Amino acid sequence: MSSRRRQVYEGKAKILYEGPEPGTLIQYFKDDATAFNAQKKGTINGKGVINNRISEHVFTRLAHIGIPTHFIRRLNMREQLVRQVEIIPIEVIVRNVAAGSLTKRLGIEEGEPLPHTLIEYCYKDDALGDPFVSEEEIACFNWASHEEMQDISSMAIRINDFMCGMFAAIGIRLIDFKIEFGRIWDGDFSRTILADEISPDGCRLWDIATGEKLDKDRFRRDLGGEEQAYQEVARRLGLLQDDNTPGEVFDMSAHRSRLRTSPKPKK
Ligand code: UDP
Repeated sequence: MSSRRRQVYEGKAKILYEGPEPGTLIQYFKDDATAFNAQKKGTINGKGVINNRISEHVFTRLAHIGIPTHFIRRLNMREQLVRQVEIIPIEVIVRNVAAGSLTKRLGIEEGEPLPHTLIEYCYKDDALGDPFVSEEEIACFNWASHEEMQDISSMAIRINDFMCGMFAAIGIRLIDFKIEFGRIWDGDFSRTILADEISPDGCRLWDIATGEKLDKDRFRRDLGGEEQAYQEVARRLGLLQDDNTPGEVFDMSAHRSRLRTSPKPKK
């Protein structure tokens, strides 16, 4: 299947292949999981299938509120068609509650709600371990322009607001997450769009009622049950059939206008 296609890039959790048309790529989701800058490696069975589905869902809903994204359409269980972008080499981390590296760096207790949402930037460089960088450093080394940083920070806040509500509605607290952006060139001008993926690999998601972790921290901390946790997120988002396989979700949009205009059934 993939052997005929030209591989453009292989990352830790995904492979990018040349797409069917210029300016497109196929994003393939692997089951491979890494943590602590790839010092810990493993697999989470079925993760690629679930993350493909969750990321499709989140990117589609973000597009509905006007966030431009690279997502075009899902092709099959593990692949989606996306727009080719020039990746901006910055990881954007949005935090609502203290966890992970923030707790280590500043000695704050995990689970402490933050007085307000924090946005942090890390320079994407595996050899350096994706170091924390300031906006001044981003500007100084020209990793992103001032205008791009304004677009990125305002989109990050909108994405966070939307996702906090989306997850709260299914009993999940959005603790923090990582997103990446890319440039699309049109002559000398470029647009900043959301790229990469949004899935439990790059989000911290805690069950509101029990505090249980439903994300990659299960793998990072050897808590077990990572497959079930990822499935649970997909299930609550309405993306799994009863047998826990990611099926086609019935698309109501084609039926909505008909439903609206049809008379109410009489008893
Ligand atoms: N994150 C990620 N990739 C990275 C670093 C962080 O997806 O290379 C996500 C991580 O899953 C968490 C958030 O960004 O949801 C904040 O991560 P943090 O800085 O606390 O780093 P960590 O503790 O994961 O090393």
